[in-house]
Amino acid sequence: MGSPQIIAIDGPAGSGKSTVGKLVAEHLGYLFFDTGVMYRAVTLAVIQQGIDVHDEVLVSNIAETIDIGLQTPSILDGRDCDILLDGKDVTWDIRSPEIDGSVSIISAYPRVRQILSEKQRRIGLQGRVVMLGRDIGTVVLPEADLKVYLDASVEERARRRYLERIKRGEKVDYDLILTMLRERDQIDSTRKIAPLKPADDAIVINTDGLNIQQVFESVLALIEKDRVQ
Ligand code: C5P
Repeated sequence: MGSPQIIAIDGPAGSGKSTVGKLVAEHLGYLFFDTGVMYRAVTLAVIQQGIDVHDEVLVSNIAETIDIGLQTPSILDGRDCDILLDGKDVTWDIRSPEIDGSVSIISAYPRVRQILSEKQRRIGLQGRVVMLGRDIGTVVLPEADLKVYLDASVEERARRRYLERIKRGEKVDYDLILTMLRERDQIDSTRKIAPLKPADDAIVINTDGLNIQQVFESVLALIEKDRVQ
């Protein structure tokens, strides 16, 4: 057997999904697709248009009408790709604390999830992809060849986010990050549709106390195991 064609990596914010997912995708020459950017782009569009994030109908209409584009980076400023919202570069705008604070509200809406999941599924089914999210192994691509669920304590995840933002030169408050992560975990894991949880056949890796290289090697070992089976 060859390498797994569809690799799903799920887990909460700060579990190391993006860093490890990128390394795995680069290693295999696969497409790296972080589905969180789509929920973030919808949230940004909603805020920019002055719509109340609690207005489910209007928010869902926005998800239906906006165009979200991903393309190879046009600027070398630490981005993995350009994220375009109706053609405009919003790569860093979707990472603001304001978006962090609202994205879980809009991602609990069934119609928003349906619209975005269908797009994600179409991309994923083309294969040779490492897809990241909360529900990739459970809902978007249940047929994924390898499902990894990365986890870590909320304190460790907040510490990672804190260091990431300090490195980007932002002014940050650890306690605020911790509180917001707890809130986001709570909404993401208790929503009715596609809650954050490992698929029954996912391999769970707790990344507390592990560095990126160690997590990367654990995932590579799983890929290798899959390959020889
Ligand atoms: O991964 P990231 O932190 O960028 O995701 C932002 C938010 O988007 C998550 O907190 C979650 O509410 C939502 N999300 C989701 N399903 C996904 C990816 C992200 O609900 N597959």
